[in-house]
Amino acid sequence: MSGLNETPSGERVHIAFFGRRNAGKSSLVNAFTGQALSIVSPVEGTTTDPVYKSMELLPLGPVQIIDTPGIDDVGELGALRVEKARQVLDRTDLAILVADAAEPLGPAMEALREQIRDRKLPCLLAWNKADLLPAVPEGTDEALWVSAKTGLHITELKEAAARAAIGAVEERPLVSDLLEPGDTAVLVVPIDKAAPKGRLILPQQQTIRDVLEAGASALVCRDTELAQTLEKLAEPPKLVITDSQAFAQVAGIVPPAVSLTSFSILMARYKGDLPLTVAGVRAVDRLKDGDRVLIAEGCTHHRQCGDIGTGKLPCLIRAKRGVEPDFTFCSGRKFPADLSGYAMVIHCGGCTLGPREMASRQRAARDQGVPITNYGILIAYLNGILPHAVAPFPDVAALLG
Ligand code: SF4
Repeated sequence: MSGLNETPSGERVHIAFFGRRNAGKSSLVNAFTGQALSIVSPVEGTTTDPVYKSMELLPLGPVQIIDTPGIDDVGELGALRVEKARQVLDRTDLAILVADAAEPLGPAMEALREQIRDRKLPCLLAWNKADLLPAVPEGTDEALWVSAKTGLHITELKEAAARAAIGAVEERPLVSDLLEPGDTAVLVVPIDKAAPKGRLILPQQQTIRDVLEAGASALVCRDTELAQTLEKLAEPPKLVITDSQAFAQVAGIVPPAVSLTSFSILMARYKGDLPLTVAGVRAVDRLKDGDRVLIAEGCTHHRQCGDIGTGKLPCLIRAKRGVEPDFTFCSGRKFPADLSGYAMVIHCGGCTLGPREMASRQRAARDQGVPITNYGILIAYLNGILPHAVAPFPDVAALLG
């Protein structure tokens, strides 16, 4: 969980280190971060689960460093660890391959390099233990000879990583492109018993931050005060953004001429493929009793979005469709690779996930022919207000035609 003033994980560039068990990968990660992030041991295979650490990498900014298990691990458990290391690729923006400078890359690393190329991920090759070589070769933009033990070329590796990662993540606005300086956006935040005590959740915080980025004003109120808040304004707001669970009530208050959307829909556009999630929503009309529905959230620890996914969404689907699907819930990084048994996937806004991870989940669903949609889109659809809720995005609204 991020601290109050920390950049959330989903906003950090993810730099993952991959290597064989004897390449000194964890030592190099520790030298790179300047802290004992990973357990270092002469025993092979010490890193059994990916290890995450946040740091600032200048001039790039906030990054998340990931140390992965050895890519050549063996045995039943070893195969599981290799699979975990490969899954990290789904959330990697820059891969650093760590190899022993005295040995060839080897088939496991060559195969991984091929996968990285296929995904068009930026990649650096760090030849570790270069202090043991009789002569240290000149580095290039893609390959450096380093030593975690002596600190040789660690600064150069960090500089090369920062250069390679700049531009690796596509910059997208959350809401600022929908607003002009001087505009007002009204944000509707219900405070019910499921809302976290004493704070706003991450999608709400990020939206307020981006409204301010546009030079606009953010006016925050509960759904119960929305009507009087709108009445008090000298002119209608440019945009109303609501928590998805209050969509139906809010749509009944906001005049049709005022743009309306939800935090979750904004997040779906910011992190992933909004048209795909809008196209996927119609799968709810085809649901039958017993169909398996996956409801997925990005939160790793506490569910910040309360019981929307586990409680309110299943109730809404039962009430509006009159069917009893078989709901499965997952959160954090436990998104299943095999989606083939599901009739549809319903995902939260994914504010704690990086764009690559969200894109990879959406791609997995699309490639397996499983419709995927988003909390806000589904709630708007089932309440008959989806055209109003996506009106701020004309290219997506056209799909509903
Ligand atoms: S449930 Fe999803 S949208 Fe809500 S806070 Fe967690 S990751 Fe963000």
